[in-house]
Amino acid sequence: MPAKKSRSDRYGEQAELPQTLQEAITYFADKQRAFEFAVSLRWPDGSITCPFCGSGEYSFISTRQLWKCKGCKKQYSVRVGTIFEDSPISLSKWFLAIWMVANCKNGVSSYELSRAIDVTQKTAWFMLHRVRAAIKAKSFDKKLAGIVETDESFIGGLLGNMHASKREKIKAGANHSPTLGKVIVQAVLERDGEVRTQILEDLKTMTKFGFLKANIEQGAHVMTDEGSDPRNSARTSSMTL
Ligand SMILES: [Zn+2]
Repeated sequence: MPAKKSRSDRYGEQAELPQTLQEAITYFADKQRAFEFAVSLRWPDGSITCPFCGSGEYSFISTRQLWKCKGCKKQYSVRVGTIFEDSPISLSKWFLAIWMVANCKNGVSSYELSRAIDVTQKTAWFMLHRVRAAIKAKSFDKKLAGIVETDESFIGGLLGNMHASKREKIKAGANHSPTLGKVIVQAVLERDGEVRTQILEDLKTMTKFGFLKANIEQGAHVMTDEGSDPRNSARTSSMTL
């Protein structure tokens, strides 16, 4: 008899994932597990944040598996901001599709997927298209579109915002740099939509552009406000990705 696989309470780790299609069907058929799996994909570090305003303060409506943001008062599901957002297909079926694409070495046809998860071949074709694109992009986040604003902030307080005496004290210190001791946070905001943030290692154009490319759809109109960078004077520019 083969040794029983140990399973911890955490989902999403390679060792715990199903090994065969039959195991995968059973694994993802559990709605609660599929939900928790989605949460771990959506917020890998475990900190659930509002996709509309970025607030981490919420109440959870367990009967509907919805969060209610204490910041902007909007409700959001685990699907908001992902490729699953506008889909009526259950998460169980989506994850099975992902599992098949990731594990079937010879590829998956829409016919095979439609049989495995009981959807029409047309639906299966559409799902495969989305899943393959997401795997290629290494992200299940839906890209932002339309008018998108982006800027960088220096968390930790700008010198200009400080009380004069404190500012003088810091300026008197050796090797003063305007970004010293601060974390650079880049944010992208879809007009009337979602906000996404990331911590930047540096302010090199390639670093910033990589984040934009990963999060914004091609053809979107991107507005940049450089005024928040203490090394630039305030100016606004825009571009089309
Ligand atoms: Zn919010």
